[in-house]
Amino acid sequence: MADFETPEIKEYPIIPKLKEGVMAHSKPFVAKPQFQEPLGFPGELVDNWQDVAVKKIGELTEKYRSIKVYLDACVKCGACTDKCHYYLGTTDPKNMPVARQDLFRKVYRRYYTFAGKYFPKLVGAEDMTKEVLDDWYTYFHQCSQCRRCSVFCPYGIDTAEISMAAREVMDAVGVGQKYCNEIIGKVFVIGNNLGLPEPALADTLEGLEEEVEEDTEVKVRFPLDEKGADILLVTPSADFFAEPHVDGLIGYAKVFHEVGASWTISSYASEAANFGMFIGSYENMRRVSQRIRKAALDLGVKRIVFGECGHAWRVAYSFLNTLAGPFDFLDPNYPVPQHICEYTHGQIKAGKLKFDKSQNDWMTVTLHDSCNIARASRMGDTPGGQFSIPREIIKAVCNNYYDMDPSTIKESTYCCGGGGGLLTDDLIEIRVKGALPRMEALKQVVEEHGVTHLAAICAICKSQFSKILPYYGFTMDQIVSIHQLVSNAIILTPDKAQDSEAAGGTQ
Ligand code: SF4
Ligand code: SF4
Repeated sequence: MADFETPEIKEYPIIPKLKEGVMAHSKPFVAKPQFQEPLGFPGELVDNWQDVAVKKIGELTEKYRSIKVYLDACVKCGACTDKCHYYLGTTDPKNMPVARQDLFRKVYRRYYTFAGKYFPKLVGAEDMTKEVLDDWYTYFHQCSQCRRCSVFCPYGIDTAEISMAAREVMDAVGVGQKYCNEIIGKVFVIGNNLGLPEPALADTLEGLEEEVEEDTEVKVRFPLDEKGADILLVTPSADFFAEPHVDGLIGYAKVFHEVGASWTISSYASEAANFGMFIGSYENMRRVSQRIRKAALDLGVKRIVFGECGHAWRVAYSFLNTLAGPFDFLDPNYPVPQHICEYTHGQIKAGKLKFDKSQNDWMTVTLHDSCNIARASRMGDTPGGQFSIPREIIKAVCNNYYDMDPSTIKESTYCCGGGGGLLTDDLIEIRVKGALPRMEALKQVVEEHGVTHLAAICAICKSQFSKILPYYGFTMDQIVSIHQLVSNAIILTPDKAQDSEAAGGTQ
C-alpha cells in the first residue's frame, strides 16, 4: 500500500520512545511561481531571504503579541511533549510541540532578545540558516494547527499560531506549500477549492435533485444563485460530489425542505474552506472571506449558514466579522454566521423535524470531534455547545451511539491527522501516522461497543478518514457525515411550501 509502515495499534495510551530524525524526510511539494505570485508572495526563494525572514519574524512578533508571549513564556515543563498525535504516531522528537516551537524560538531569540544576540549558545539561539529553513519546512508541515497541545500547557502556549507564523515567514521568502497555495488561487479564480465552475456546479445540483426524488419520491430543491432567498448556504466544495460529504449536503437540503426554508448556494462563493488560515496569511484569509460577503449582498439574503467544515467554521466563528463585516445588512435575529448543526438542532428543538430513527439501526455510531470546532470555536448559546449540539443531533436520529474514551474527545480530541493544510498525497506518511491516536480510540469502542461508524462534521476529517481507515484495517465507508445520518432518518413531506416565518425556528 505504501513504502512506510503503518504504526501498530496499541492498547491506548502508550507513550513511545524517541526516534530522532525519523520524519526528517517528509516535506510537501514546494509551490511553483504560478501558485505563489497570485497570492502576493515571491515566486521562489529570494536572494536576501535571511534578511526577509528575520524582518518578517520581527513584524509578526510585534503585530501578534500572542506569538511574542508564547515564544517568551515557555518554561520547558514538558507537559505538552506527549500530547501531539504526530509525535505519538511518528516518535520523532521534533514533533513534540515544545520542540516544534523551539525551531521558531531559537531564531527569534537570536535576533530579537538581548541574551540571544550576545550569548546565543547559552539560550539555544541560532542563526537563520538554510538548514534551519529546511527544518522549518519539514516540521511546520507536520503540525495540523489543532491546538491540542495548548489545552495541556499551563501557560496556554498555542503551537498552532507559531506554525501559522512560520508558514507566513516561509511564504514571504518564496518557499510556500503547493497544496495550500494552489487551492487558495483556485478560490480566487473560480470560487472553490476544487476549481468547479458554475455550469458544473449547476449540473451537479440538478443531478442531486433527481437522485433524491428517485430515492424518496419527494422533490427536494438544491437552489443555486437564487436572488432573494433567505439563507445563503456556504459549504465545503467536497460536499458537491465526494462521499460521504455529498450525503451531508443532501441532509442539509432535506432539513431546509422540511422546515420550508428559502435558501440558496452561491456559485461565486461556492466554498466554505479558507486555507488562508493554514498558511497564516491574514490578507488571503480576508480575500477569501470577502467573497462570502459579496455573495450575500448580491443575492440579498438575510442569513448565512455554514455547512460541515471544521476550519471553515473556525474562520467563520472567530474571524468572519473582522475579515468581512459588518454584517448589518443581515437579519439581526439570527447569529452571523450560523452553523448548519445549530440550524438543524434549533429546528429539532422547535419540533419541526420528524425522524424514523430505525433507518440508522444498522449502524452503531461514535463522534469524532473535529479539532477546529472543538478547540477554536463554539456553537449555540451555551458553553460546550460545539460538543453537545452534534451529539444531540446524532441521538435524535440514531438509536445506537457511544462516545470514545474521554481523554480523546471534546476539548482533548485528537486531530484526524490531515488538518492544517496537510491533506495532500505528498504527505500521506505523516497523515497515516498522525491518525494513530484516533484509530486506537476508535478500535477500543469498536471492540467494546460494536461501533460501526465514525461521524464527523468536517470535510477534511471525512476526506482524511476515507483514505486512512483502510491502513488500520477499517473500511473507507465507516466515516459518515452527521447530516447523512439526519438524511437517512428524516421523514419528508411532499410539496412542502416555502415559508420564511415558519422556517425561522428558535435559532
Ligand atoms: S497544534 Fe496540534 S499538531 Fe501542532 S504541535 Fe500542537 S498538538 Fe501537534
Ligand atoms: S507545556 Fe507549555 S510551558 Fe510546558 S514545555 Fe510545553 S509549551 Fe512549554
